[in-house]
Amino acid sequence: MSWINIGILSLISNLPKWMVHPFAKTYVAGETVERTMQVVKKMNERGYACTVDILGEHIQSPAKAKKITKDYCNLYEVINKETLNCNISIKLTHIGLELNEKLVKENFQKILHHAKSYNNFLRIDMENSPYTQRTIDLYQRNISSYEKIGIVLQAYLKRSLKDAETLNTPGFNTRICKGIYNEPSNIALKDRKEIQDSFFLITKQILSGEGFAAIATHDIALIDRIETWIEQNNIANNRFEFQVLYGVPMGNRLNQLLNKGYTVRQYIPFGPDWFDYSLRRLKENPKIISYVLSNLARRTIRRR
Ligand SMILES: Cc1cc2nc3c(=O)[nH]c(=O)nc-3n(C[C@H](O)[C@H](O)[C@H](O)COP(=O)(O)OP(=O)(O)OC[C@H]3O[C@@H](n4cnc5c(N)ncnc54)[C@H](O)[C@@H]3O)c2cc1C
Repeated sequence: MSWINIGILSLISNLPKWMVHPFAKTYVAGETVERTMQVVKKMNERGYACTVDILGEHIQSPAKAKKITKDYCNLYEVINKETLNCNISIKLTHIGLELNEKLVKENFQKILHHAKSYNNFLRIDMENSPYTQRTIDLYQRNISSYEKIGIVLQAYLKRSLKDAETLNTPGFNTRICKGIYNEPSNIALKDRKEIQDSFFLITKQILSGEGFAAIATHDIALIDRIETWIEQNNIANNRFEFQVLYGVPMGNRLNQLLNKGYTVRQYIPFGPDWFDYSLRRLKENPKIISYVLSNLARRTIRRR
């Protein structure tokens, strides 16, 4: 971590919540479901599909894990009632993965039941490597009972290309991302170019087979490379989509993708847990501090 990032991180950790809020709100829809649904509606009107995620992870109390489960179930109901183009992404440690197997299975089943009732999609985010296999196992145990579920493959993990090969049967739906956690070099690629290549190869693997690829990156060079391959290989539009995190500036690139008729999905996190969550994320990956600062600077310059 650079000294500048260490300094900024300790400064942010000690600031009151209200001071950090203006920075966080660029990337977080709000604290409430109502506010978040307004953001989703606005995004839908601009042509984007959406995924919402209640901020938080590593829940240490069964009661809290059950409460989050209930919140996710209610969320499907609200999305359906408001006829929004929006699905849900969950983190398994948010619904009890660290507590016990039985609890997480029960909570997952409840959320899945609601997804099914409303004919909506459920994605399981991928967390750090101690949970990779358990996440894949849970996905595999449930895919035969409901086809509208998906997982995430992280391009920085050395195992992911093999996972893509094994899992890529008809109906397989995966988000591909670079990976956000700080993983050891015996299991994870560290070189930017190698991670980009791995991302590209996994995407090719999925789209050369029968799966669906959600291409989740803000890396314009990588988007260009994948888009060229998709067009050269006549991959149908319903086999893939592009995904970005809400609030990350992408210039005109997303409009270009929308204008080509491609689906672009905004991943929109929300919830009262935004402060602790944002801090944990910053500590795990201080690179985000530089992103946030340079994105804010770009915005300020554009406004002038
Ligand atoms: C829709 C979506 C879902 C994701 N789900 C997961 C998941 O389940 N598991 C997981 O491990 N990771 C997940 N990630 C995070 C991902 O793994 C990367 O860490 C992150 O997207 C940065 O990589 P990049 O591909 O955008 O490329 P980079 O080269 O790292 O970033 C390109 C540019 O994007 C901007 N940028 C990128 N990330 C941020 C940010 N957080 N804040 C502000 N600006 C940013 C910066 O301007 C940067 O220069 C997800 C990402 C997206 C877009």
